[in-house]
Amino acid sequence: MPVATPTDLQAALRAAGEEPDALIVAGGTDVMVEVNAGERRPALASGTVIVLDRVRELRRWLHDPEASSVLLGAGVTYTELMAEPLASLLPALAEAARTVGSPQIRNCGTIGGNLATCSPAGDTLPVLAALDAQVHLASSSGERTMPVEEFMLGVKTTALASGELIVGVTVPVLRGPQGYAKVGVRNAMVIAIASACIVADKDQRTVRIALGSVAPTVVRCPDAEQHAAASVHWDRGRCAPAVAAEIGERAAAAARPIDDHRSTATYRSRAVAVLVGRLIRRGFPDA
Ligand SMILES: Cc1cc2nc3c(=O)[nH]c(=O)nc-3n(C[C@H](O)[C@H](O)[C@H](O)COP(=O)(O)OP(=O)(O)OC[C@H]3O[C@@H](n4cnc5c(N)ncnc54)[C@H](O)[C@@H]3O)c2cc1C
Repeated sequence: MPVATPTDLQAALRAAGEEPDALIVAGGTDVMVEVNAGERRPALASGTVIVLDRVRELRRWLHDPEASSVLLGAGVTYTELMAEPLASLLPALAEAARTVGSPQIRNCGTIGGNLATCSPAGDTLPVLAALDAQVHLASSSGERTMPVEEFMLGVKTTALASGELIVGVTVPVLRGPQGYAKVGVRNAMVIAIASACIVADKDQRTVRIALGSVAPTVVRCPDAEQHAAASVHWDRGRCAPAVAAEIGERAAAAARPIDDHRSTATYRSRAVAVLVGRLIRRGFPDA
């Protein structure tokens, strides 16, 4: 089986263009689970493997202070997201990264892999949605950029075309409290039963709220966002507990959870209401 190990983006795109059915591997933390489960064997038997972890352009990140944004290469790992200065620039993303798997998974797993897998429980996805991140895609025939919410089409379904790679994601750097929280069956090495991210933008006086694991893909909560923006005390950075609880309830109303082997729809709805209320209280403590 041919294995391509490109070291620059052009070579990676060329390889992906020549072998559009190739198995793309970044950190391998999702792919190898699928291989072990027998799900990738047909592709492996007949095709090519393209390994991206040496592609230097994908491993980089760049802070643009003038644009107030960070461009994260698709190959940036959770461990890198948790380290300074990225952790201070993008605190909710760092907080989400800290909840992922174990140190070994965080050392290998990448933001591009999380996006491409597009699990409803992917921990970076609610954060990227709340931050209105832009996803950059490229193939041997061109490039395109789209909002992350347009990229995520459904359960493990994305807008990624055959032969196309995720190159990176542009994430705004905002002034204001932000945070991510999830609940699972235990505290570590756990897939989210429900998750939530809140991002407040002090300059625009907006609050953005996104939920994970409570719908086929991440959901935003426009009613809760508007209520939060109108109700928090922006000058004092405060919010009354009853208002925070109300914002949580409104966020939960946007969820479309299901019963499955991990939890029930009722528990998931309750959990996101509590998580959003807590994150609002943490960002905007009581007067
Ligand atoms: C023990 C364990 C615990 C885990 N815990 C968590 C957790 O807590 N939270 C969580 O969200 N996830 C978790 N995961 C899942 C996984 O670690 C993440 O989804 C991770 O971000 C995947 O990244 P990767 O680089 O390993 O992707 P890979 O496994 O290399 O690839 C995943 C998918 O993305 C595609 N892909 C990768 N990079 C690109 C690219 N640049 N362009 C196009 N396609 C690409 C691959 O073809 C594949 O389909 C866990 C996995 C394991 C094994």
